[in-house]
Amino acid sequence: MLELLRLPPGEVDLASYDTRATPGFDGDKAAGREALAAVAPELGDLQERLYAERTTGSTRRVLLVLQGMDTAGKGGTVRHVAGLVDPQGLRITGFGAPSAEELAHDFLWRIRRALPDPGQIGVFDRSHYEDVLAVKVRGLADDAEIERRYGAINDFEAELVESGTRVLKCLLLISPDEQKERLLSRMDDPTKHWKLAASDIDDRARWSDYAAAYETALERTSTEVAPWYVVPADRKWYRNLAVAHLLRDTLAEMAPVWPPSQVDVEAERRRLLEEDPIS
Ligand code: AMP
Ligand code: MG
Repeated sequence: MLELLRLPPGEVDLASYDTRATPGFDGDKAAGREALAAVAPELGDLQERLYAERTTGSTRRVLLVLQGMDTAGKGGTVRHVAGLVDPQGLRITGFGAPSAEELAHDFLWRIRRALPDPGQIGVFDRSHYEDVLAVKVRGLADDAEIERRYGAINDFEAELVESGTRVLKCLLLISPDEQKERLLSRMDDPTKHWKLAASDIDDRARWSDYAAAYETALERTSTEVAPWYVVPADRKWYRNLAVAHLLRDTLAEMAPVWPPSQVDVEAERRRLLEEDPIS
């Protein structure tokens, strides 16, 4: 999956992607759901190994960055994919419009504070990329500052990788038609009204500006150490399966191993069996 969905080098044209495609999987929705359930034990095992590894002083960790337009399924991916592993090993952060305090600092300040600890899988629902996407499209920073940020992001991610973090950046790509359907169904469902923001419709009106901002961001920040992956996301089941496989493959490449015990297991076994005071 890593090879299949990895953004190829060169110019990015998001309109050329088929957002209903299911690369690497030729089954239907039911088969896709089964495949997701089937990968869960492996994902759980790998995550637990990574978590255990930290007891040996390892600083390795994973940062899963989820980006996409409103309704692209960032939250659903957190529930269905991150939800497959032990919550204790996760650090999940959603990034909304920055607070006054956050705005008083460099854009990476709040990001650094949300990074996973060793052994954890960090998940970002939106991220530092909003600072070259929403901020660019809404004109919240000048061109020179946006330009500076691409380099700052690359330096930041290279530093993360250097210190043991695997960075997995996924763009969940939906079509404008699919977004319209999803926004309409949110409007039809009172239990989803809390998710609606007037800015969703404003952002949708600037779809082509966002697409252009995404294309530039992907071109400028898909690096050897932290490449982008483009996930066709009109089919929710495929999106979940693809991100689960990307995460599984990433962890499998890291190949975390069960650490040896910190105690003399045989000595402790004898103590338990021979000197047990509770018998
Ligand atoms: P949601 O993901 O639906 O909770 O919406 C979060 C909102 O916060 C979106 O409209 C984002 O574009 C916005 N947002 C996130 N990060 C930033 C940022 N750095 N600057 C401006 N807006 C942001
Ligand atoms: Mg929203």
